[in-house]
Amino acid sequence: MVKDSKKFESLRDDMVKWQIEARGITDIRVLNAMRKIPRHFFVSEALMDQAYGDFPLPIGEQQTISQPFIVAEMTQALALKKGDRVLEIGTGSGYQAAILAEIVYRVYTVERIFSLYKKCRQLFDSLQYHNIVTRYSDGTNIWPGESPFDAILVTAGAPRIPENLVSQLAVGGRMIIPVGNTHSQELIKLIRDENGIHQSVLGGCRFVKLIGEQGWKE
Ligand code: SAH
Repeated sequence: MVKDSKKFESLRDDMVKWQIEARGITDIRVLNAMRKIPRHFFVSEALMDQAYGDFPLPIGEQQTISQPFIVAEMTQALALKKGDRVLEIGTGSGYQAAILAEIVYRVYTVERIFSLYKKCRQLFDSLQYHNIVTRYSDGTNIWPGESPFDAILVTAGAPRIPENLVSQLAVGGRMIIPVGNTHSQELIKLIRDENGIHQSVLGGCRFVKLIGEQGWKE
């Protein structure tokens, strides 16, 4: 694996300063995780020089690694606590899962494309993320034996909120999910408390499709 050079470190500091802090992200754990994680390891070698740019990048299989700011925004919105167990739907490049793993106790991440799942498992092992549990499956189905989760993050756009995911949210739990059509979505935040589910809208976004039993059909 390519060594994390000074060049990438300086690109990363600039990314956090100009794309993340300058746009209002204040959660210090999110900022520190983004300063630390070598984002260029999560893209192909040909794209490493662009890994700290202000845009999503292709990761193969017609999927993308999200723009750095959207990763920061969603992570901050989850209001994470150190002891949390977090479910992520859509492992993709593995970058978002690594960010979560820096902040919380354990991350459970599901990917429906085998090659991406496999690549991430190897990457997490080589970067020594021992608190990331990976699964090759349709994440709109229940993860047996592991729910409820303190936070759920969906990193693909859904036509509607999957009931299976809401049902896996603990009391006090938070969920972030892009919901809309295939061209644009709204980032929705759900909170479960003793009285039920409360929903709010964070803003517009654009993600690849959440494909599955409770998502889009292929
Ligand atoms: N969190 C990722 C973003 C990946 S893009 C990152 O940091 O790079 C969205 C990913 O969701 C794709 O890899 C896609 O294959 C996956 N996906 C889409 N529908 C899914 C489903 N039902 N279950 C699991 N993964 C899904």
